[in-house]
Amino acid sequence: MKAITIHQPWATLIALGEKKFETRGWKTNYRGPIAIHASKQLLYDHRLPKLSSTLWEHGFRKEDDFPLGFVLAIAELVDCRKVSDWLTNKGMPVLHGAEDDYYLDDKEYAFGDYTPGRYAWELINIKRIEPVPVKGKQGLWNWNYGTCINCKEDKELLPLDDVQGICEDCAQVMSDLAP
Ligand SMILES: [Zn+2]
Repeated sequence: MKAITIHQPWATLIALGEKKFETRGWKTNYRGPIAIHASKQLLYDHRLPKLSSTLWEHGFRKEDDFPLGFVLAIAELVDCRKVSDWLTNKGMPVLHGAEDDYYLDDKEYAFGDYTPGRYAWELINIKRIEPVPVKGKQGLWNWNYGTCINCKEDKELLPLDDVQGICEDCAQVMSDLAP
């Protein structure tokens, strides 16, 4: 599965379903499932009132509340909308998509960097998962996550071949059993 590493608290905001656009200076042509990975960095600015109040409502109140270095959610990337210099009548930038335009509201606007020329990666079907510790990478990277062919649990996998994998626990048991 593709994955993207995002600084906190924005990764948590996505996992909570409060932020559906990840804003970046670059776009990708990839469309499909994407893992939302929280980086080891918390860039929390308490001066952003909308950010603080939304996180507070969800029980994220102190720095320790934010998982750092974990995959937090799985979503579907459906578009990379270009932030235009057109403004809505409320002064919000319009996002040009592949098929239509999107009109930002002030809450979403507060949760990203919508400088014209940047891209808003549109995420739908965001599902929060039990956080999985994973080392992040730059850009769009591959996270090998799926159903272990041995224990049948959904876990991070060590690849056996291009399509099948086995989890680290099962691989450990097998290597202990090996003569
Ligand atoms: Zn397993």
